[in-house]
Amino acid sequence: MTPTILADARLPAGHISGIGRADIEISDGRIARIADAGSAATDGAERISLDGALVLPGLVEGHIHLDKTLLGLPFVPHRSGDSVAERIAAEKALRRELAYPVEQRAMRLIEQVVSHGTVALRTHVDIDNEVKLDGLHALLKVREEVRDLLDIQIVAFPQSGVMIEPGVTDLLDAAIGEGADLVGGLDPAGIDNDVKGQLDAIFGVAEKHGVGLDIHLHDFGPLGCSELREISARTEAAGLQGKVAVSHAFALGSVDDAELGKTAEALAKAGVAIMTNGPGPVPMPPVKRLRAAGVTVFAGSDNIRDAWSPYGNGDMVERAAVIGYRQGFLADEDLALALDLATHAAAWVLGLEGYGLTEGCAADLVAVRAESVAEAAASHPARMLVMKRGEIVAREGKLSRAP
Ligand SMILES: [Zn+2]
Repeated sequence: MTPTILADARLPAGHISGIGRADIEISDGRIARIADAGSAATDGAERISLDGALVLPGLVEGHIHLDKTLLGLPFVPHRSGDSVAERIAAEKALRRELAYPVEQRAMRLIEQVVSHGTVALRTHVDIDNEVKLDGLHALLKVREEVRDLLDIQIVAFPQSGVMIEPGVTDLLDAAIGEGADLVGGLDPAGIDNDVKGQLDAIFGVAEKHGVGLDIHLHDFGPLGCSELREISARTEAAGLQGKVAVSHAFALGSVDDAELGKTAEALAKAGVAIMTNGPGPVPMPPVKRLRAAGVTVFAGSDNIRDAWSPYGNGDMVERAAVIGYRQGFLADEDLALALDLATHAAAWVLGLEGYGLTEGCAADLVAVRAESVAEAAASHPARMLVMKRGEIVAREGKLSRAP
């Protein structure tokens, strides 16, 4: 592989002491050297001038549903249904009518997220008694096809419940056996009405295979917080600290301070991370308060043009802006924190090795025309260039390399 120099790149302020504009030398898929702009020897290397564009570590999508998207189809009008149970029913009805296979829809979404600078993602895939492991099989194939574009982690997700869908626990077990990376869960109280039953089942599968969990939790208020503390206790008991996440956790935004405090303490102690997408008109986890309590918070898009939501585009810088907007983040350091949820924090949750913008790290990078991280987060400009393991995969918002 020819070494590449990303010349005259702007680094995040204070990133490397004494270096503002830099030449980033890349070889064998890694960042070999970061030095003052103009100092890199160019013999034998491909030199790409960034003309002062800001370079960030590649974006990490912490929560997406590649199997659900309707991208590639004519726009499908949203069907009504407010509760989680109603949405599940609406999605199943629509799913039975779709002739456009998961592989093709997922591929459209992957092309889109890569063009926005995502270098790794965690997708949930529906597992139920109707689709069984079909969606998983499709995504396992897709993961292989796009391995040069981005890394994919798959959560076996019981979208229709566990205890109310006899047989699903066995399907989750089979899914992990066939290549899914984590076990999912869904509203143990709100959907299954059996917190102990669902958590016994999903932690049982996770412990059997030695994998982590990522649980959707929409349940609000003290009920949701008690589930979060129960998940934390089970995480510690199973020795799964740092391998468990809870997605949404609206409950953390809908309880009094004392309830929030004791729940945050339990999450931090158990190393249970919280994913937010900066949701619409529902309470959301208070990002700064959780971080201050030692809880890892990370970002994801969740639904992108599917039966759950017509919104979304898979741009994780824009997602950081949505989260920052909902949290009232205005100061530079707060905007940088918003972007951290979609970079370093999400990378930590996904367990990405060699992630970052320092010498020796994987050359998974994105360049944007912005003067600072704060400006990038607030205005989410188009991506100038996206690099995966040292190869350019997208330029100016378009894929430059076929899967
Ligand atoms: Zn989700």
